Amino acid sequence: MLLQTFVWGFASCLKYGIIEFMIYLDHAAATPVLPDVLQAMKPYFLHDFFNPSAAYLPAKKVAADYEAAKATIAHAVGAKASDLVITAGATEANNLAFTAISLDGSCRSFSSPTSRSSAGDPLHDRHPSILYLVTEHDSVRRVAETYGGEPIRVLSSGLIDLDDLRNKITDETELISVALVNNELGTIQPLADVAQIIREVKIDRTKRGVKRQLLLHSDASQALSLLDINVARLGVDLLTLNAAKVYGPKGVGALYVSHEANLHPLSLGGGQENGLRSGTENVPGVIGFAKAVELSKKHLAFNRKKYASWKKILLEELEDYELINRKHSLDNFIVLCYNGIDAERLIFLLEDKGVYLATGAACAASKGVRSHVLKAIGLSDTQINGSLRISLGETNTEEQIHEAAKIINEVVRSEERRVNG
Ligand code: PLP
Repeated sequence: MLLQTFVWGFASCLKYGIIEFMIYLDHAAATPVLPDVLQAMKPYFLHDFFNPSAAYLPAKKVAADYEAAKATIAHAVGAKASDLVITAGATEANNLAFTAISLDGSCRSFSSPTSRSSAGDPLHDRHPSILYLVTEHDSVRRVAETYGGEPIRVLSSGLIDLDDLRNKITDETELISVALVNNELGTIQPLADVAQIIREVKIDRTKRGVKRQLLLHSDASQALSLLDINVARLGVDLLTLNAAKVYGPKGVGALYVSHEANLHPLSLGGGQENGLRSGTENVPGVIGFAKAVELSKKHLAFNRKKYASWKKILLEELEDYELINRKHSLDNFIVLCYNGIDAERLIFLLEDKGVYLATGAACAASKGVRSHVLKAIGLSDTQINGSLRISLGETNTEEQIHEAAKIINEVVRSEERRVNG
């Protein structure tokens, strides 16, 4: 009981305490676990802790709850529980998706982990059969690069250059990876158009007797909280989901796998998740993920409207900025450029005033590397250096939005005075 009180008290403190003195505008980097999500997870840490593979009745109940939670997550994207592989986050799901390419031209078996050894180590085989959007998150980009994949260009709007995609697809191409929503700009990609191009290529290949597979993978990590996703409508074969971006627990993700795709496990063991992801199931994590998905579905329309109105307030009240992501982006993403100002310095000054935001992808920013995304849309080094990403979310209130605009204006003005002498 004491422990329960502590865990719950700590959660309330997170939701209500820290937020009192902090205006957190970095929901693309991390979202807090909502109290209802934590509440749903709690019994599976404390009482229903059984291994779902065990033979006794309480464990069977846990296994049934786990499957039901998987079904909730799957239904949210128009899929079935059996189509999902639960992973330890989106990074793992993205890595798993790339095992769909054939290493030697032959197809792999969904349930045959041993077939890999004869084909060599996928992470070291060069493979020209992958196309990926140049603006992808590192968990896609780095894997694609390692396999020798080729980047597809984006337009200055951040949208995929469909002509470049068409030109780069060859008879060797097996996998195309395009994130549904970009994590730095919030750009929503026209995946249905990409899927249509793939369909045309497949028809042409069939006519010419070319047998190679052609799959579409999409990382939807940033999309699930604000877009109504349906795998059939999008035309994807593989779709990455991320609990950590929808107010669920970190380290929990899922990969939707269509019947077209034959994957290969990244690690071997007890054969859980159809043999594709061995290891005792993360029951509390998946229960929390399902609750988070359920809540975001329920509030999707309301939240979209709310963020659109807050974005409008910010764009009206902020001063002297250039808006980078003008069109085609989720309403909770606002990317601004203050030309001639060092955004890294701004971030520190704003933190002193209790406003937390990012210069680009949190991971790229912390490594001191210039954003490959902002570079890809054609921003100059000066523009990139002066760019801030605001990502709105559940921890915010309208009062905070007005307050944030005021504080950002003050800090930018004082920086401008310092720079211009
Ligand atoms: N993909 C996208 C688009 C992301 O934004 C992130 C995290 O920021 C990831 C993948 C990686 O997610 P995780 O760190 O939970 O594995």
